[in-house]
Amino acid sequence: MNTFIHYHTLDLRLHDSPSLHVAHQPNNPSTHFLPLYIFDPRQLDLSHLPNAPKSPSPHSLKSATHQDPSARYDPKQSRCSPLSRVGGFHSTSPYRLKFLLEAVFSLRESYRASGADMVFAYGLPEVILPKIVESLKTDGGKVEGIYAQREYTLEEISNYRRINNALNNEKVQFNDSKTLISPDHLPFNPESQTPDVYTEFRKKVEGLGIGLNEMLIKPLDTSEVKDGQVKYNGRIKPFPKIDVDKINLKDGQGGFISSDETIDSVYSKLVKPLFDNPPVGGWSSSSSDSRDTLPDLHSKSAIPFKGTELAALERADDYIGIPPEGKAGWKGGMKAKHYKETRNGLLGEGFSTKFSTWLSLGVLSPKVVGWRVGELLDAQGRDKEVWKNAYWILFELLWRDYFQYTLNPNSSLFNPDGFSSQISTYPQDLRPNPSEWHQANLEDPNDKARRWCEGRTGVPFIDANMRELVETGWMSNRGRQNVASFLTKDLYCDWRIGAEFFEMHLIDYDTCSNWGNWQYQAGVGNDPRSSRQFNPIKQANDYDVDNGFVRTWVTELEGVGDEYVQTPWLINDKSKLKNYPSKPIVELPSWKKHYPNQPSTRNRGKAKGNGKGPKGGKKGAE
Ligand code: FAD
Repeated sequence: MNTFIHYHTLDLRLHDSPSLHVAHQPNNPSTHFLPLYIFDPRQLDLSHLPNAPKSPSPHSLKSATHQDPSARYDPKQSRCSPLSRVGGFHSTSPYRLKFLLEAVFSLRESYRASGADMVFAYGLPEVILPKIVESLKTDGGKVEGIYAQREYTLEEISNYRRINNALNNEKVQFNDSKTLISPDHLPFNPESQTPDVYTEFRKKVEGLGIGLNEMLIKPLDTSEVKDGQVKYNGRIKPFPKIDVDKINLKDGQGGFISSDETIDSVYSKLVKPLFDNPPVGGWSSSSSDSRDTLPDLHSKSAIPFKGTELAALERADDYIGIPPEGKAGWKGGMKAKHYKETRNGLLGEGFSTKFSTWLSLGVLSPKVVGWRVGELLDAQGRDKEVWKNAYWILFELLWRDYFQYTLNPNSSLFNPDGFSSQISTYPQDLRPNPSEWHQANLEDPNDKARRWCEGRTGVPFIDANMRELVETGWMSNRGRQNVASFLTKDLYCDWRIGAEFFEMHLIDYDTCSNWGNWQYQAGVGNDPRSSRQFNPIKQANDYDVDNGFVRTWVTELEGVGDEYVQTPWLINDKSKLKNYPSKPIVELPSWKKHYPNQPSTRNRGKAKGNGKGPKGGKKGAE
C-alpha cells in the first residue's frame, strides 16, 4: 500500500483538483488515495469534542486594544487563538460554521459517492498528520506524498512549516489551485514584484501578450455531476486501510470524528462555545433558535445557498450559463450578461454572482469561473454589451488574486498602518497616525465602534448593512465599502475592529480579501487616496432608491415616510422612530446637500445602478 494523502484546507472540492489529477496519472506510483480534513484549535474552539485539544489563549489582547493601540503584529508569531487580537471576537459565527461544515461534509459525501472516503480529524495538524503517516507506514506501507493547496497567508504558511518540522521524511507538496492566475503564469515574481496599485497589476496580467482568454487556464477535468451528486470523473484509487481508532493520541491532543457522526452533531459541539459567550450585536436570530441542528437560512438572506460543491456548480450554471452541447446554443447566463449593470445592488440573490462564499473555502475553483466566463464571451462574439458586463466578473476575480499576491513573508496585513508602512513612495501627508484613532471599548454600550457593530449608529443605510451582516452572514460590496468608510473616516475608529468583526460574521471571509479591502478603505493599504470617503446619505439616495433595503433591515422605521427614512433625525415627531436613535452618532456637513428637498436630491429615483466603471475603477469619494 502506497498512499497519496491530500490534506484539504481551503480547497474543499473535487472539481479542478490538482491532487486528484496528479494521483491518477499513469506514472504516479501511489496505490491508494486518502483525503483528510483537520479541524484546528487555532481556528475553532474544539473544547466540546472528546479529548479536546486546548485552544491556546489569545496573546496581548488587552494591550493591543487599550494600552498600546499601535502594538505591532509579530509575523513570527502567528495567531494562536480562535479569538481576535484587537476586539477579542470569535473567529467564526454560527452561520460561518454552518457553511464550513456543509462544505466539509458534502465533500466527504462526494468522495463516498466516488467509491472512496475521507478522514475528519481534530487537533493540531502538526500532531495529527505525523500520526496518520506513522499509521499508514505500519506493516510495510508507504506514503507517496502529502499534497495541499499553496496558501499565501502567514497563519497557513506557519501551519505547513510546523507540519514539515514535525514530519520525519515526508514534506508537504503544494499545488496552485487558489487563484485565477497561478503564480508561475504571472509576468513577475509575486513574492517581491507585485505592483503597489491594482490597475498596474491587472494591466500586466492582461497584457501577458496573448489576450484575455489565453490568460485563462482550462480547469482540470476531475469531477462530474451525476444524479445530483458530485463524483470523481473516473475510477478513484481505493481508500487505504487505516484504523483511526488505533492511532494513539495523548491527552488533550484531539481525535477523529467517527465516520457516522452527523453534521448536526458536530455543529452542536462546535457552536456551543459561541453561544456561551456571544459577541456585541449577538448572533443571527435564526441561528439562535437552533443550537442542536444546523440553522435554517435567514428568510431575507441575499445568499440563499448551501456551502456544498453541488450548490456552487449549480450557481455557476445559473449565473454564467451552460456551454453548448451538440447543436444547442449557450443556455442561460442572463445574470452574467448584466453583471456590471446590476453588481451594485443590495437586495436579492441575482445582482452579483455570490460566488465569494464558495471561493473563500475553495468549494468553487476560480479557474472554473474564469474559464466559463471566457467561454460565454467567446460564444457572444462581438456583442459589446455582454462583453462589457461579463468581462467585469474577471476584473473582480483579478482583484481577488491581487489581494492574495500582495502578501509576502513580511506582510503587514494586520498592522495598524497596513501596507502603507511597506510602500516607500506612500505620500507622507496621507500616512495614518494610529495613536489618533478611537480605540474601542466594547463594554461601553455607547462606544462608537460598539454602536457600529450593533447597527445602532442612527444612520439607517449603515445600520441596515450591519444588521444584514449579523443576521445573514453576508453584505453586498456596496454595503461593505460604505460601512468600512463610515467606521474609519466618519467615526475615526481603528479599522482593525471592523476587519475582525467582518472576519467573525462574513460567510465568505477570506483573509487577503477582507484585510486587504479594509486597509484599502481605511487608507492604509495599496493605492492611497485621501478622498476615498463615502457619503452614506448620497449613497443611500443612489443605491437604495426606493428605500427597500433600509426598510428590510431597519424595521423600527416603518412609521417614517419615504422622504425621511434615510435621514429620520430630520422629522419632528420622534415618537415615530420607536427605539431607533433620534440622532445620528455623527453628522457631517457634506451630508446636508443630499437631504430631502435639496437641489441635488430632486432627481432621486433616477440614480445610477452601477458604481465603478472601467475607467473610474472602484475609487474615489462617492
Ligand atoms: P461579485 O461582485 O459577483 O464578484 C465576483 C468575485 O470577485 C467575488 O466572488 C470575489 O471573489 C471577487 N471580488 C469582487 N470584489 C472584490 C474585491 N473588492 N476584493 C477582492 N475580491 C473581489 N470578499 C471576500 O471574498 N471575502 C472577504 O472577506 C471580503 N471582505 C471585504 C471587506 C471589505 C471592507 C470590502 C469593501 C470588500 C470585501 N470583499 C471580500 C470583497 C467583495 O465585497 C466581495 O468579494 C463581494 O461582495 C462578494 O460578492 P459576490 O461574490 O457576489 O461578488
